[in-house]
This record gives sequence, structure tokens and C-alpha cells, in this order.
Amino acid sequence: MTLILQNARLIDGTGNEAVADAAVMIEDGKIVYAGSASGSPQIDEAKAQRVDLGGNTICPGTFELGGQLVDSVDQARLEARKLLREGVDVIKIASSGGVTSPNDDPDWLGMRTEMVAAIVEEAENYGGRHVAAHAIGFAGIKAAVQGGVHSVEHGYALTDDLRQEMVERGQFLVPTLIETLHPDTATPAAVAKSSKWHALAQESIRASVEAGVKIAVGTDAGLVPDHGANLGELGLLVKFGGMTPMQAIVAGTRTSAELCGLENELGTLEAGKLADVVVVQGDPLADIDSFSDNSRILLVLKQGSVASNRGDFAL
Ligand SMILES: [Zn+2]
Repeated sequence: MTLILQNARLIDGTGNEAVADAAVMIEDGKIVYAGSASGSPQIDEAKAQRVDLGGNTICPGTFELGGQLVDSVDQARLEARKLLREGVDVIKIASSGGVTSPNDDPDWLGMRTEMVAAIVEEAENYGGRHVAAHAIGFAGIKAAVQGGVHSVEHGYALTDDLRQEMVERGQFLVPTLIETLHPDTATPAAVAKSSKWHALAQESIRASVEAGVKIAVGTDAGLVPDHGANLGELGLLVKFGGMTPMQAIVAGTRTSAELCGLENELGTLEAGKLADVVVVQGDPLADIDSFSDNSRILLVLKQGSVASNRGDFAL
């Protein structure tokens, strides 16, 4: 059976222009065609299930990207090797203090460059595993970038020199612009710390976008926001980062898949990719905040199977 999603606008995640009257064809959990309806391949109608999406928008599924303390280079290597033997795909380190943590500060350096470099080297040697660094203040970001991590989460205090270095090294930035404090449970000190650092985040993201740093989308999963609200990040990339809605969608789909090393399977709607598909009400290029409103996410397919069908489509 071929599932054909039709009467929809297509944003395929590659950054190419939206296709106004599109069809996406899915077989065995994979996309076999995504493009204009008029250009879609001939198919035996007896083996087709056609679903009318009512003029709404088909996008690729989006991504949500998610430390332990070490005190010496040898210990860093040891902890990294333990995690790698346990089979982790990505090692997450904290090279600066945190915003939500009460006993440290983003300006503090959590790990020196040579510790980061030791972990990166061990991960690279172990089948090319990636290292992601939580780094908010300047010292921690510098250690992460120059230690050679694959991605920097937060990166609020980035400078132009470090942005240039990230571009040259091909490193990703996961800017995490969404507020991570629950206002009803946070202490006044935490609120003050958070508002200071989030103001910096909002100032700094535009320069990172302009410098050409690869931007992927994530939030500190498990803290706040609740899962499902994380796509508000796309609107913030437009509002504060100066991205176009199309660029923000690409950040949340193709670039995030690339960061996870999954660009051959996910991130765009193209023939051969897994059919992780999201149908958004209306035109998200006209209103990027459609993504942050759950009631406007009309359909979600995971590898071609229905994960959510709020739009009551006939499938
Ligand atoms: Zn973090």
C-alpha cells in the first residue's frame, strides 16, 4: 500500500522553496516521492491510500537535542572511555557552570581545554562518537570550541573570534533560547541569574547566525519547557536570531539531523528518507509560531505510522 498525502504545501527541510500543490508518497515507512502533485509518479490506484490534507503544510519531523564532573585530564579520559564502552552515541560534557544549577555560575570554567580535547580524542577514536558541550560563559565556550567538540549548547557569551573558529571547525551551535525556569518554583536568585543570561542569549544569537555558524534546535530536555512546547524555539530564532522562517525550519530539521549524524535517514522529505512527517495548520512560513501551538500540529507520522492525528485525517 502506498500512502499519498496530498492537497498540501510542502516544506521539505532542504531550504528549497515551498511547493504549493504537493504530494508526499510513503511506502514501508519510507518516502518514495516528495514534490509537486503534478510531477508525482503514476501509481496503481487499487494500491494507494490518498489522504487530503486540506491545504495545510507538510514538514519533516523536527528534532530535540538533549555531565559529569571531572578534575583532571586522566580522569576525563577514564570517564569518557567508561561511557563509550557502555555504548553512548554522544558524550555530553559541561565546560561551564549552569543557569538553573544553584552552586555554580555560567562564568566559571567547568573543564579546561585539554580535558575537553582528551574526551574528544577518546570519542573520536571510539568509532567517531560526538561530544556535545553545555557552555554558557566565555571561558567554558572557549574550552569547548578549542577542545574540538562537535556542538556547543547555549553558547550565550560567544565572541566574534570564537564564532569564526566554530565556522572553520564546522561546529554546531544549539542556542536554547527558550526560558528554562519554572517561574512558580524558582528562587529569586535563580530568576535574576536566568534573566541576565537569557538577555545575553537573545543578543548573541543574531551575530552567530550572521557569522554563518551552523544552528541546530534543542532545549535542555528534561528541564523546562515540557516536551511538545520545545518548537517555540523556531519562533525565537526568527525573532531574536534574524532567521527567516524557512531558515528556522531548516535548523530544526536538516541541520539538527546533520548534528546527530542522521542526515541520510532523517531531516528532510526526500525519496529514500524515513517518513517522519509533521503536518502543520496553515502556512508556517507566514506564522512560524504555528509550531509552538500543539493544537496546530495536525498530524505526526513516525516512519509512516500515525503518532498523532489531531486533524482527524482519514488514515
Ligand atoms: Zn545546558
